[in-house]
Amino acid sequence: MSRAEETSKGNFSDKHVVIVGAGITGLAAAHQLLQHPHPPRITIVDAADRIGGIIQASPFAGLDSVDESADAFLTRTPSAMNLAAAVGLDQQLTSPAANHAYIWNRHIHAIPTGTMLGIPASRKSIWGTPLLSTGGKLRASVEPFIPRSIGRSTDSLGAAIRSRCGNQVLERLVDPLVGSIYATDTDNFSVHGMPQVAELLAQPTSLMTAAHNALVNRTGSGAVFATPITGMSALTHAVHEKIVEDGARVVLSSPVHTIDLQGETYLVHLGNESLQADAVILASPARHTAKLVEQMSSTASHQLSTFEHASVIMIAMTIPRAQWPQHLTGTGYLVPKPVQTGVTAVSFGSNKWAHWKTTADEMILRVSLGRDGAPMHHLDDTALLEVALRDLRAHLGFDATPTNIRFTRWIESFPQYRPGHASRVGEIDKQLHAAYPGIVLAGASYRGIGIPACITDAQRAASHALASLLS
Ligand SMILES: Cc1cc2nc3c(=O)[nH]c(=O)nc-3n(C[C@H](O)[C@H](O)[C@H](O)COP(=O)(O)OP(=O)(O)OC[C@H]3O[C@@H](n4cnc5c(N)ncnc54)[C@H](O)[C@@H]3O)c2cc1C
Repeated sequence: MSRAEETSKGNFSDKHVVIVGAGITGLAAAHQLLQHPHPPRITIVDAADRIGGIIQASPFAGLDSVDESADAFLTRTPSAMNLAAAVGLDQQLTSPAANHAYIWNRHIHAIPTGTMLGIPASRKSIWGTPLLSTGGKLRASVEPFIPRSIGRSTDSLGAAIRSRCGNQVLERLVDPLVGSIYATDTDNFSVHGMPQVAELLAQPTSLMTAAHNALVNRTGSGAVFATPITGMSALTHAVHEKIVEDGARVVLSSPVHTIDLQGETYLVHLGNESLQADAVILASPARHTAKLVEQMSSTASHQLSTFEHASVIMIAMTIPRAQWPQHLTGTGYLVPKPVQTGVTAVSFGSNKWAHWKTTADEMILRVSLGRDGAPMHHLDDTALLEVALRDLRAHLGFDATPTNIRFTRWIESFPQYRPGHASRVGEIDKQLHAAYPGIVLAGASYRGIGIPACITDAQRAASHALASLLS
């Protein structure tokens, strides 16, 4: 019988699994464990006084729930769609009301069609966009003639795209898209941090052909993004409700301080109590997890403590619709790194989400500031608002006068996958598992940052934890 078969047949009802972190990863891991016919007892512990981690929403401008962080997940990695369906949200999902967006490079320009994450899939997509100069277009057009090996040996996403498509494609197309999704500087970001790009680079064809094939294969397969109509936190709340109904215990406001091994079991130390566990899934960010494993492996702890994170500020605001330039019907715009002065991206919330149309005379915007290497959180709210309004004026050409404003500071919230990240994670996993098979790392710090990747990783972690209980 294979390990997977044994795991699916085992009876774990006398075992206890503790999950540290009640973000989407911890919640999804608990959900996955509970799919087993004889699941272990499960306790999720979180330092915060609420579930959801980074996924957070609050009432804004008369709406019950406006996301303060993630507002959509990718549908092509099916884990988030499947989890939403499993907790009864499948009929409550919606997709963006518009399907085009812009890049600001001294003017607002449409993101060229026929590109994949900014990578041109045809000569037409290169020659049709004013975002590239003639020199940039010529350079991008020769990509199919560049030896296939160029750009395939580096794990810097920026270096790979620069060497294949030229600096302008990287700086004006790819970096604004990837950089704004992960608050990153792609020159210092692992290719494997963006699996869609890694997949294209792994093809034996030119990058242009690989992007073309990927676009052709995805035609007609439905919306790229989805979200619950009541906001992303509906997903974490629904998963939380389901796992509690199925027997999981959720302990909030209880930071875990450390974990050690006592005999055959792990002791998870909270403030005044210690939980005995047969396996522990650490679904807290790497920089927190570093402290938790210190007593077990100082090497793994040190390596985890070197993982870097970027901070962003999200300002939600409403502005009078009368101020809005009517021609801007897309979902928002991104600002390339060389011309950034604070604002990195603006989401036109009321264009993007039909359910965010507050009143006929107001428009919701979500303005993002700060990224890896360009922090903004040292500024106070007044200064941040000044920067946001100054940049909006420069980008869109009008003086916005916000009627409602909400600031959310996401300090050290985006893990930065430096080149070589995947092998570093493999090394840490190996060290921990060799001595502590029941300790499993999961979440945005390791194998993918977006919500679907976190859910996939949670499911992997759950299987791994169950397998460790068999030994
Ligand atoms: C501003 C912003 C916008 C984003 N937008 C999108 C988007 O549109 N689409 C998308 O797919 N992704 C998006 N992401 C990324 C995605 O939301 C996150 O990567 C994902 O939610 C992380 O989930 P997680 O459970 O791994 O970690 P977290 O949500 O960080 O959860 C970790 C939990 O661990 C707890 N914890 C930490 N230390 C301890 C301890 N010692 N003891 C107990 N508990 C502890 C924390 O309190 C926290 O609740 C966005 C992220 C940000 C910051």
